[in-house]
Amino acid sequence: MMAALWAAGAFGQTQGLGQKDGVPQDGEVHVLHVRGPIYMILGAGGNVTASVGQDGVLLVDTGLANMSDKLLAAVRQLQRETATNGLTENRFGAETRSSERALVDTEGPPKPIRYIINTHLHPDHVGGNEKISKAGRTLTGGNVTGDIANAGEGAAILAQQNVLNRMSKPAANQPAIPFAALPTDTYHRDMKLSHFFNGDGIHLIHEPAAHTDGDTIVHFRGSDVIATGDIFLTNSYPIVDLANGGNINGIIGALNDILDRSIAEFRLEGGTMVVPGHGRLCDSADVAYYRDMVTIIRDRIEDMVRRDMTLEQVKAAQPTKDYDGRYGAASGFWTTDKFIEAVYRSVAGEKKR
Ligand SMILES: [Zn+2]
Repeated sequence: MMAALWAAGAFGQTQGLGQKDGVPQDGEVHVLHVRGPIYMILGAGGNVTASVGQDGVLLVDTGLANMSDKLLAAVRQLQRETATNGLTENRFGAETRSSERALVDTEGPPKPIRYIINTHLHPDHVGGNEKISKAGRTLTGGNVTGDIANAGEGAAILAQQNVLNRMSKPAANQPAIPFAALPTDTYHRDMKLSHFFNGDGIHLIHEPAAHTDGDTIVHFRGSDVIATGDIFLTNSYPIVDLANGGNINGIIGALNDILDRSIAEFRLEGGTMVVPGHGRLCDSADVAYYRDMVTIIRDRIEDMVRRDMTLEQVKAAQPTKDYDGRYGAASGFWTTDKFIEAVYRSVAGEKKR
């Protein structure tokens, strides 16, 4: 299981402040280098995964709206560092080819933010969409890749179709979401970027009816990093957003899919790196432990439902008790009781409500 190693330097204090599961809770944004061009940015709301390099910037999620400025500052700093580093051997993609390496390495201003991918619709993952998209520039396709000046067009925002459907028609008690914050490109199942980006093939995989009904995991295939969104969390039980189409069985299916795509380096450690929706950087062993935990609790509750126990009886039977020390919560947004109820409703289906 990975111990999180914090990148020192530009982003200030990293250790010893208020932490939960190794994650700073100091109101600041923190950057952790994962591998190659991939960085994990913590503290902006949900975790943000960034690919930063010669092709520009791709962000998985954009944090909370009120953290946009700090997130953008962190991205700008990474852009400057990679532009002056002359990093990279063998990294090429949409704007660069291997034969051009020497020409593009060290010169010129940082490349813009090109893509935002939304793992799902929650405001701690899409809140920065508008501001951060506007700070970027879309990448045009075909033979005209590059900086076609079109100030009106920010970075492309990619998401599964259900994310756009739900964001563009918020519930009656929710405020309308500005057009500029909505996904610009959607897909129903999986999607691949049509070209390498900073040396990675990038695969967007829809996980049906899991945390919500619009979840995407993002696999950076060269660097071998998977950003999971809120399907995987290190500091709480999985959040099942029933109202937005989530289901505990879909979460287990998605966790199994993440494991299917992961390869450990040695004795279950290292190898594929996994960025959870919240919490610390992980490897596949962490995902396997979490998958086992969720599956065990689902099976227990499913068995109780089969024996016609009511929700109150299931809660009283404490089906999560042995895991509550690590994942449980008695107060706050996602309590253990709410988790049990969501699992109960997932497995009991409509007739038990
Ligand atoms: Zn979420």
